[in-house]
Amino acid sequence: MSRLKDCGAMVYRTDEVGNVVLLIEDGKIYAKTQIELPDQPVILSKENTDGEYIGNIKSYVYHTESCKSLPAEHNREYLTSKEEAESKGYKACGNCNP
Ligand SMILES: [Zn+2]
Repeated sequence: MSRLKDCGAMVYRTDEVGNVVLLIEDGKIYAKTQIELPDQPVILSKENTDGEYIGNIKSYVYHTESCKSLPAEHNREYLTSKEEAESKGYKACGNCNP
């Protein structure tokens, strides 16, 4: 079982979730279980993330996503790279050193 987890496979156990129904649609496999599963960790690929850096459109400072002094949501611009941030005129934050 741990080897299955290691490779990131979803494991559906009928003793835990009841009947498992697999649906195949448009080449994707969906699993329906009798019991609602708790939120599964979702691994997002790079294309699905909003960006790794957050720019403040008022002060033109950019931060890492985990910085404590992130701007309010309406003042944010999501940036995918330092190059993008700097090409738009953003300066690196002194707290989080992006
Ligand atoms: Zn910062």
